[in-house]
Amino acid sequence: MERLQKVIAQAGIASRRKSETLIVDGKVKVNGVVVTELGTKVSSSDKVEVEGVQISKEESVYFLLYKPRGIISTAHDEKGRKTVLDLFPHIEERIFPVGRLDYDTSGVIIMTNDGDFSYLMTHPKFEIQKKYIAKVKGIPQREDLKKLEQGILLEDGMTAPAHVKMRTVDKKSNTALIEITIHEGRNHQVRRMFDAIGCPVEKLKRESFAILTTIGLNAGESRELTRHEVKQLR
Ligand code: URA
Repeated sequence: MERLQKVIAQAGIASRRKSETLIVDGKVKVNGVVVTELGTKVSSSDKVEVEGVQISKEESVYFLLYKPRGIISTAHDEKGRKTVLDLFPHIEERIFPVGRLDYDTSGVIIMTNDGDFSYLMTHPKFEIQKKYIAKVKGIPQREDLKKLEQGILLEDGMTAPAHVKMRTVDKKSNTALIEITIHEGRNHQVRRMFDAIGCPVEKLKRESFAILTTIGLNAGESRELTRHEVKQLR
């Protein structure tokens, strides 16, 4: 027996949190009866319908995509721009991106149909480390980097402590390359953190997400995660 929200999430329909909302909103039926109780348990012989459509458990798939710049990381874009899904034209499973990267950010993003896994990778309480390399305008001083390390006040509150390392400085172009590792995932967080010290980001790449890196891939390419990687991440 499994909790209803877990079964819905595993079917690749929605994240676990969204699955809970679907249940509470009366959009889910078990054996023909609307169920709004989040604790409900179901077995594989129960018929589960979400918004009138029966779900069947799809096999879980996991991909690491090296997202290029100039691609949107939602499944659909109302402006008709290219999305990360357009880079998987032959995948039949209903995959979606785990978390987000800005349109102009490149780097590691996981694509999966496993809503439960997505929840584990994105909920801040699991503190998954994400390393970014930022090219910034201006050359941050030691005290600026310390502020980023210790936590800096943004409009949505203080950031958690981060690891920050200056990689290179180019005095001629007045730019610097800085490595920053964070475990939060607020909107445009890295860009806002550098804005807060007066060094706006010119270019941003997510070099790693937990144990996963872009090594071996070119921008726009993807590969399936190995079973060992999925196990390590869970
Ligand atoms: N922080 C940002 O500002 N942008 C991203 O795409 C990811 C993290």
